[in-house]
Amino acid sequence: MRKLLLLITTLLSISQFTYGQNQVGVWNVKNGNIESNKSENDQLGLQYWETIHSILPNDLLNKYVLSLRLFSDGKSEDMGGMNQLDETVEFWQIDLDTADMNIFTRDSIQILDYTHTLIHEFGHLLTLNTSQIELTDDETEDPDRGYLTTEGYAIKGSYLNLFVEEFWKPKLLQEWDRINKKRNKKKLVDRLYDFYLDHAEEFVTDYAAESPEEDIAESWTFFVLSDKPLKSGGKYEKIKFFYQFPDLVKYRTHIRKNISFVPVKYVENFKTDSN
Ligand SMILES: [Zn+2]
Repeated sequence: MRKLLLLITTLLSISQFTYGQNQVGVWNVKNGNIESNKSENDQLGLQYWETIHSILPNDLLNKYVLSLRLFSDGKSEDMGGMNQLDETVEFWQIDLDTADMNIFTRDSIQILDYTHTLIHEFGHLLTLNTSQIELTDDETEDPDRGYLTTEGYAIKGSYLNLFVEEFWKPKLLQEWDRINKKRNKKKLVDRLYDFYLDHAEEFVTDYAAESPEEDIAESWTFFVLSDKPLKSGGKYEKIKFFYQFPDLVKYRTHIRKNISFVPVKYVENFKTDSN
């Protein structure tokens, strides 16, 4: 999911319907092809799907994405999500807010913003699919099995497992865990934001500090959209992390070829809502 942290109303990435959202349409996708839902918005669904397909690597999309949902809650708030269709991690739905992702705009800032969202959501598919996550009924984390996501354990050697081992040392994880237990949403958002400020050098955006899952999705997005960092330490190491995987370097090249323009010094120039 991608949201502006300061405006978060729900924090779970699996929220099919939220109050204040207007549904534009839902379409089934089979082997990468969108199927008609026989509604007046059919053409729109097709245009969105073609845009997604023309930017993101098709192999994972065709394998895992079985549904496209378009909605709108107006600008900002919820911008989109990659959601499981059932309790497994095999079947996914892409959710996109048509106000945040206006595929007809010629405004370069808006295009870059929705491109960021699409790459971010693909980052979830990349790191949470069935080859990466082992399902479990465990409600509390068994340290021997590694990092527990909402979906299941990050398999040893998976992108998320390696990412957490390298960047979320036990002390940081414990600090984040304590915050994450807060049930009061306003408090949770405030404390997560403080957590980000305390470790701002380590995160590419404030939203990345929401969880390791969001951190890897955001860092992956900057890996794709930024030049290879010359600087070291902190967030720059998170961007460089992905260069060790030849498949991901190929994905990066593929996406950069397909987007209308590649931003200049993305990580240096990126502004979160707070600065
Ligand atoms: Zn996300």
